[in-house]
Amino acid sequence: MKYVSTRGEAPSLDFAEVTLAGLASDGGLYVPESWPQFSAEDIAAMRGLPYAELAARVMEPFVGDSLTPERLRELTAKAYGRFAHKAVTPLVQLDEQHWVLELFHGPTLAFKDVALQMLGLLFEEFLSREKGSLTIVGATSGDTGSAAIDAVAGLDNVEIFMLHPKGRVSDVQRRQMTTVRAPNVHNIAIDGSFDDAQAMVKRIFADRDVTAKHRIGAVNSINWARLMAQVVYYFAASLQLGGPERSLAFSVPTGNFGDVFAGHVAARMGLPIEKLIVATNVNDILHRALAEGDYSAGSVTPTSAPSIDIQVSSNFERLLFDVGGRDGLALAEQMRGFDASKAMRLTNAQTEGAALFTSARADEGDTAQAMRWAYENCGEMLDPHTAIGLHAARAADIAPTVPVVTLATAHPAKFPDAVERATGLRPGLPARVGDLFAREESFVELSGTYEAVRDHIMGHAS
Ligand SMILES: *Cc1c(COP(=O)(O)O)cnc(C)c1O
Repeated sequence: MKYVSTRGEAPSLDFAEVTLAGLASDGGLYVPESWPQFSAEDIAAMRGLPYAELAARVMEPFVGDSLTPERLRELTAKAYGRFAHKAVTPLVQLDEQHWVLELFHGPTLAFKDVALQMLGLLFEEFLSREKGSLTIVGATSGDTGSAAIDAVAGLDNVEIFMLHPKGRVSDVQRRQMTTVRAPNVHNIAIDGSFDDAQAMVKRIFADRDVTAKHRIGAVNSINWARLMAQVVYYFAASLQLGGPERSLAFSVPTGNFGDVFAGHVAARMGLPIEKLIVATNVNDILHRALAEGDYSAGSVTPTSAPSIDIQVSSNFERLLFDVGGRDGLALAEQMRGFDASKAMRLTNAQTEGAALFTSARADEGDTAQAMRWAYENCGEMLDPHTAIGLHAARAADIAPTVPVVTLATAHPAKFPDAVERATGLRPGLPARVGDLFAREESFVELSGTYEAVRDHIMGHAS
């Protein structure tokens, strides 16, 4: 399998190369050259497989020659063996039509573990083969940082520098990053916002003084391997609820468009999907883009669902490429226009090609209402992100015979204040992270200047 850039000019790469690469050299994102196809019989033959086996089947065509099927199965067994639930991504029924797919049974209680536990092993595998090393630099508003640190802590050939905006991540989120004591983990709190941290990371990737000495790697969802791992649970849910004979709808709380793009990939591969519901909070650029063709970024409004408080959705470019005729040079032109003005219109081909998607937006009242509804009617506590997904799932116009699955992207205990405000009950941390508040923290605080961050990384990367 070869991977091509959405902007048409970077060299194509194989799976091992694309896993270790960040952005493509032309500024685009990598996507598979073509979509692997599964027939209804192929999908039916996956029924009853343990999650790790299913994962290996779904990933195999994407991995191509980069791993033998046996090695791939060993890696999925190791990655998903660390989950606290035997089913890895269990389904919970809410009512006659609605289900929740719990993606938060990994080590850091966020759905990002599903992809990052696998990505950490892939880094280790591909780096040891070429005796190379990788310096990961990332910015986090909370969940990516902790999931990435857990996934790579203790690896020999990977170092991770994770920037978070000081005072703007929750205590649970910060402690999940800063209490991991491994020599290859470096936490940095910066004065500034998440966007400031993110902008510094982008500069590091483009800074030749840094890249001449260190190979810089990415753990956010511009990394293709993350999306590939997320395709698996769409298959898992479908197989539980009557697929491939029955088509399902999925509602996905969306920020960077990675998780819901994985649903698009599943559909392209042949999984019957009725609708993909893009659920946003008041930071609704994606809702406006899908409903009106208006992709224009405003400023970010902080909400109770901080992991989707974003305005520019990197993975949306992958969708525009795939549904708009796969014309990299035309898309590069369109994206240059967006970079200059922070606004663009979708083309007719892009709007028509995105017909599988619908969208809805939840304000803070809708989010609290959905948490209350799930608790009072089903006894289920949902985190605010999942509640936004459920609000959109219930608002969408889906035939009553079609099951609607809302992706639960975080454990409610990651956002205890918002859950308590809505339901009156404070969710407790699961026992497996129980001593989080007793462990010692370690992080450095740096001023918000780029030079301070760069010098720290250059001084501490081995
Ligand atoms: C990262 C995250 C999301 C958004 O996922 P994307 O792939 O960026 O759309 C949603 N909910 C939670 C809890 C997250 O951590």
